[in-house]
Amino acid sequence: MIISVMTKKFACGDVVTGCAWSTTANDENELFQKISEHAKNEHNMTDIPDEIIQKVKSKIQEA
Ligand SMILES: [Zn+2]
Repeated sequence: MIISVMTKKFACGDVVTGCAWSTTANDENELFQKISEHAKNEHNMTDIPDEIIQKVKSKIQEA
């Protein structure tokens, strides 16, 4: 029997227009870690505003 793990996926372009970056992770915490790193490096967001976090959350998909 194969236990399936739901992979989470996020495309930055769903929140930031024109950004082609996307990522996957095994859970939301890991995903958010990757997203915040990307936001910091590529979008100069050292602190991600709550508004953006909510937006990101609503765009997370199960792959
Ligand atoms: Zn981006």
